[in-house]
Amino acid sequence: MTERKQSVLGILGGGQLARMLALAAAPLGVKTLVVDSAPDACAGQVSPLLLADWSDYAALEKFAAEVDVVTFDFENVPADTAHWLAERVAVFPNPRALAVAQDRLAEKTLFRECGLQTPAFEAVDTREDLDRALAIIGAPSILKTRRLGYDGKGQFRIKQLSDADAAWEALGANAHGLILEAFVPFERELSVVAVRTRDGDFHVWPLTQNWHTDGVLSLSLAPAPNVGALQVRAESLARTLAERLDYVGVFALELFVKDGQLLGNEMAPRVHNSGHWTIEGAITSQFENHVRAVLGLPLGDTSAHGFSAMFNWIGDLPDPTPVLQTVDGHWHDYGKQPRAGRKVGHATVRAEDAKTLAARIGEIARVLKRDDQVAPALRVIG
Ligand code: AMP
Repeated sequence: MTERKQSVLGILGGGQLARMLALAAAPLGVKTLVVDSAPDACAGQVSPLLLADWSDYAALEKFAAEVDVVTFDFENVPADTAHWLAERVAVFPNPRALAVAQDRLAEKTLFRECGLQTPAFEAVDTREDLDRALAIIGAPSILKTRRLGYDGKGQFRIKQLSDADAAWEALGANAHGLILEAFVPFERELSVVAVRTRDGDFHVWPLTQNWHTDGVLSLSLAPAPNVGALQVRAESLARTLAERLDYVGVFALELFVKDGQLLGNEMAPRVHNSGHWTIEGAITSQFENHVRAVLGLPLGDTSAHGFSAMFNWIGDLPDPTPVLQTVDGHWHDYGKQPRAGRKVGHATVRAEDAKTLAARIGEIARVLKRDDQVAPALRVIG
């Protein structure tokens, strides 16, 4: 028999997304190699870890020689690093797609070109720009850093025009520029997680409804109830965007619903927190389909099994017992040290119908004293 060579997937960034990608790669016979500069990067508990900085080209040379394909668990990998790697090994998603998604201005401009409306926005580079932008957009609005912002970080909410000085004080020193966005009093937040292969095969998972606390995802419900035609609309927009970027792999589009219409907030060029429910709640998870897509394998079905809710655990993990004791309750501990604001785990609870799901998550929240976390979802399905 001839010796077989297993594929090796290289992952830049060693957080929980890399960890879940590595866990999904294993049954496919795909090995992983994660690059991170932190020795305690949590993906290192389930995958070999190469300790290196993004700018350590000697280490990246070794990495490129050992892997068949490179992907990301973190979208803010410097564009130079992504381009440098792409000259040596297949990199998915491609560095151009990554660059667009790294810049809120480029991203929202592309959304509009693809027919996805966005909150009104203006580029802001100087204090005078901020006044000019506020004269157009008004208040309430949100000043955001164009780059390196996520989970509500790098944002300042301008409640009234007199907050301009405070907003500039907070963010004006940012070297990468800012964007002022109209504050959208949205009816709900949805996300669509989608995947595209190297051959252009394209699938989406059912829309997910999300609730955030302090800008960080707190709870997701999938499939999002009562979306009607929005599912087809989101699918078509995601496909247009993916084709424009020649995107390969999984990505997420975060959407607001206002007056029944979709507005684009941001695109994550990677597997996404609002798609974690797909591990147990869909026929094929976002992690497995990302591995399949970047390695050139056929995609799996993205249909949901019943209804799922995902609790995000931020800062510290609660007692797992109530989730573990729940029928179809699934616990995910990322193996991280607790820290304020840090995503340390999640739990997915599944049921065949929305009423049973509501009863299950309501009971877990009651025992864990997390009623606030599930209350908005229970208003939708309870
Ligand atoms: P982001 O980091 O841009 O995804 O923002 C985090 C969260 O802040 C979003 O999921 C929304 O809940 C809220 N948010 C961001 N931008 C806006 C906006 N223009 N209008 C209303 N809420 C927003």
